[in-house]
Amino acid sequence: MNPLERRLRARIESEGPISVADYMAAANAHYYATRDPLGPRGDFITAPEISQMFGEMLGIGLADLWQRAGRPERTHYVELGPGRGTLAADALRAMRAAGLEPPVHLVESSPVLRDAQAERVPAARWHDSIETLPDDGVLLIVANEFFDALPVRQFDADGRELQVGLGDGRFVRDGVVERETSPDSLAIAEALAKRLAKQGGAALIFDYGHDRPGTGDTLQAVSDHRFASPWRDPGERDLTAHVDFAALASAAASAGARVQGPVSQGRWLEALGIAVRAIALAKATPERTEEIDAARHRLTAPEQMGRLFKTLALVAPGWPEPAGY
Ligand code: SAH
Repeated sequence: MNPLERRLRARIESEGPISVADYMAAANAHYYATRDPLGPRGDFITAPEISQMFGEMLGIGLADLWQRAGRPERTHYVELGPGRGTLAADALRAMRAAGLEPPVHLVESSPVLRDAQAERVPAARWHDSIETLPDDGVLLIVANEFFDALPVRQFDADGRELQVGLGDGRFVRDGVVERETSPDSLAIAEALAKRLAKQGGAALIFDYGHDRPGTGDTLQAVSDHRFASPWRDPGERDLTAHVDFAALASAAASAGARVQGPVSQGRWLEALGIAVRAIALAKATPERTEEIDAARHRLTAPEQMGRLFKTLALVAPGWPEPAGY
């Protein structure tokens, strides 16, 4: 039993059940603080870890937007939850080729992942939260599989918030989920929208989820590339919930950003030109042709990551539309 589980049990025994959101937040804080979940012996894999093409398409999309906005001089690259720093490194390389070399700001809570990021993006500056991001200059913001890790509150059909207690020595949730909300996600979407309205730029958000709210229980745990119970070994499994894109979009819109999408990741990657990039890569490294094709398929095919994963753009008023939405 890890120290977090011991603390959670002691807390529930002395104070009573805690909300699902508190349980999820505590479990993920411990999980990410103590490991690199994306490494060779990790628990799950993400789009940028599948292929460099994902980060490159993102870099091309951001550089194109920046060029059409008139190449503003003070421009920052910001990434939320950058994992191992792979996406940032790939995107920055593609941006550099297009003449954009922005200072890099990484919002990351995990010390282990900060070390991994420093290996790939040594010149970055790190932030505990979005509050300390620079308040002058354009922000080009990226978040891949960040919002799905933020805590969700769960409610039953009577609107009562579900709690996690202990029964027969195990963690148990005390009801049936009718509805979920993620107040932390909405607060971040709202804060980003305000920044964009004031400073200019855009936020491109990638995650898996639904376009419509009201789909019941989406909380899940993944361990060793397999689904697992969220109620066992808290802090040793990655807990995620589907992102409610409609809710994110309306929070951002009411805070002053224009919203585009969501569109599926597959359509977005195709619109940005992943097919052409795959051909160029295969030409440069013919021995990797099969691997490149497989990665492109995995990222774009509807039955793979192409449909469940979506992207939403928050755009500063007066800015051009990012490509692919
Ligand atoms: N974007 C990466 C990693 C996704 S995993 C990729 O696509 O590979 C989720 C990331 O969000 C990790 O870097 C994790 O440490 C970070 N994270 C989770 N909750 C966070 C929080 N509350 N504040 C900042 N970072 C957080």
